[in-house]
Order: sequence, then structure tokens, then C-alpha cells
Amino acid sequence: LAKRLGRGGFQFYSRQLTEDAQHRLMLESELRRAIERGELEVYYQPKVLVENGMMVGSEALLRWHHGKMGMVPPAQFIPIAEDTGLIADLGRWVFREACRTAAQLNADGSVPHKVAINFSSRQFQRSDLVQMVTEILDETACHAEWIEIEITESLLLDQQYETLATLCALRTKGISIAIDDFGTGYSALNYLARFPIDTLKIDRSFISSDDKRSAELVKAILSIARCLGQSVVAEGVETVEQAAFLRASGCDAAQGFLYSKPLPKAEFVKLPQFLSI
Ligand code: C2E
Ligand code: MG
Ligand code: MG
Ligand code: MG
Repeated sequence: LAKRLGRGGFQFYSRQLTEDAQHRLMLESELRRAIERGELEVYYQPKVLVENGMMVGSEALLRWHHGKMGMVPPAQFIPIAEDTGLIADLGRWVFREACRTAAQLNADGSVPHKVAINFSSRQFQRSDLVQMVTEILDETACHAEWIEIEITESLLLDQQYETLATLCALRTKGISIAIDDFGTGYSALNYLARFPIDTLKIDRSFISSDDKRSAELVKAILSIARCLGQSVVAEGVETVEQAAFLRASGCDAAQGFLYSKPLPKAEFVKLPQFLSI
């Protein structure tokens, strides 16, 4: 790019890089104080049964309301948190919030509700992950059965042995494990046989595409999951047509703007048990 822009272009290019780096540094130092300043909030998005729209769970999604910058999207600050190691503190904070919510939602014992929490690969590099999870479950009186952890395919291809041990320990406690954005990572499928996976979350790109072949891939994923005894959640469901297709294909659960966008806890708890189908 710099070359194509010629001599003046290089200056422009390097100035742009410096500005990006400065912006990142600024976000990093602001993010360090976000927890103590109370700028973080967990939103919840429902997961429903495709069959009848009954809410069976939710996904916890972190939000950062900065005093001056306003709402900073996770796509901007999660990568910074991962690179700087701040994800450990943020992750613990989100996990505690989500466990409190799960305990609250399951308090009346009528319909079980599972709260899913996203875990970065970086969080698995810490040897105290299982201990952290155990302590917070105790502290919040949250049953492991009310919690699901969403991980990405790339994690399973990184540090194989330790990851396997950690996932097995979490699963033994009763926590479920879901593969997030399934189908967008590496093409290796052998990890599905080796790792303890309960749920596949089909990536939004397969759901939103009008391409016939994407629909065929969704069916193929459903078939793999059925063979392996895993459940499937379709993410990013926005239209009734998409929901109808998923219902006809036998997909278990769905999540997306059709049912509800992610909401602050106070609004989320007011949602009805059955959402648009
Ligand atoms: P994800 O885990 O795949 O989360 C789903 C994302 O899709 C969310 O974006 C959600 O708001 C969005 N979404 C849900 N339904 C629809 C739909 O129907 N249409 C469209 N277009 N989008 C939909 P969000 O909240 O911006 O989060 C982005 C990513 O940031 C997440 O992707 C996850 O990877 C990461 N993230 C969010 N919170 C946390 C967290 O607490 N910890 C970690 N490690 N990562 C997080
Ligand atoms: Mg997720
Ligand atoms: Mg996802
Ligand atoms: Mg995603």
C-alpha cells in the first residue's frame, strides 16, 4: 500500500500506523480501569427451542460503556484484552456476573435455564482456570449444570493436552461445552471425536447465506452432531424463513435478532418464556 501511494504515501501510511497504535494504547489503559469504574455490563441474548420458541438458555455478552467514547464493541476491546492479558480479570468478572444471573434465573426451579459464557483461548493458558470456576460457582451458589462454556475451534488445535485436561475437568463438574462459530475455523474434524463437546453453534454466516450450498452444509452439520450425540444451536437467526428452514431440518435451538437482541439483565429477565417462532 505504501509503495503504491508513492513517497508522500509512505508518510501517510506510517502516521496511520502510529495513530492506530496510539488508539490501541489508549483503549488498553482505559480498559484497565473499566472494571473498577463500573463501565462493564453483561447483556444476555436468549437461546430458544426452534420447535416452539421456548427460552432454554442465554448467552452472556460483555458490553463496555466508556464515559467519553460511549459503547465500545467487543470486537474492538476483546482482542486488546486478549493481547494484554487483561482478559483474565475481565473473564473472571463476566463469569461471576453470569453465574449470579444463572442462580437467579433458576431459583424458582420451574424451567431450567443455561447461561453460556464465552472463554478466550488465552483464558485456557492459565493453570488456575478450573479453580477459578469452582470458586465462583461456590461463591454464587450456581450449579455447574446451569453453565455452558463457549470456546472456538482454534483452541482445540492449539495446546492439545492441557486443553483436553481442562475441558474434561470442567465437564466432570457438570459444565457443558459448546463450540462457537462452528464451521469457520480449521477444517480438521478429528477433534470432535477427541474432545468432550456437548453443543455445536453453527456460525451465523451459514444461516444468513442465500446460497443453496450453505443450507446443505447446515444439514450436514446437523447430521454430524446427531451421530455424535451433540445438540446444535443456530446463531444469527434473523428471519422467519431461516427459522422455518431450521425447524424443517431438525435443528434443536436458535439464537438471533428474530427472537431478541442481547439485552441488559433488567430487561432480559422481563422477557416471556416463549418468544416469536
Ligand atoms: P459470539 O460469541 O459469536 O457472539 C455472537 C455475536 O453475534 C454477538 O456479538 C451478538 O450480539 C451477535 N448476534 C446475535 N444475534 C445476531 C443476529 O441475529 N444477527 C447479527 N448480525 N448478529 C447477531 P457481540 O455481542 O458484538 O460479540 C462479538 C464477539 O465478542 C462474540 O462473538 C465473542 O466472540 C466476543 N465476546 C463477547 N463477550 C465476550 C466475553 O465476555 N468474553 C469473551 N472472551 N469474548 C466475548
Ligand atoms: Mg459466543
Ligand atoms: Mg458465535
Ligand atoms: Mg462470533
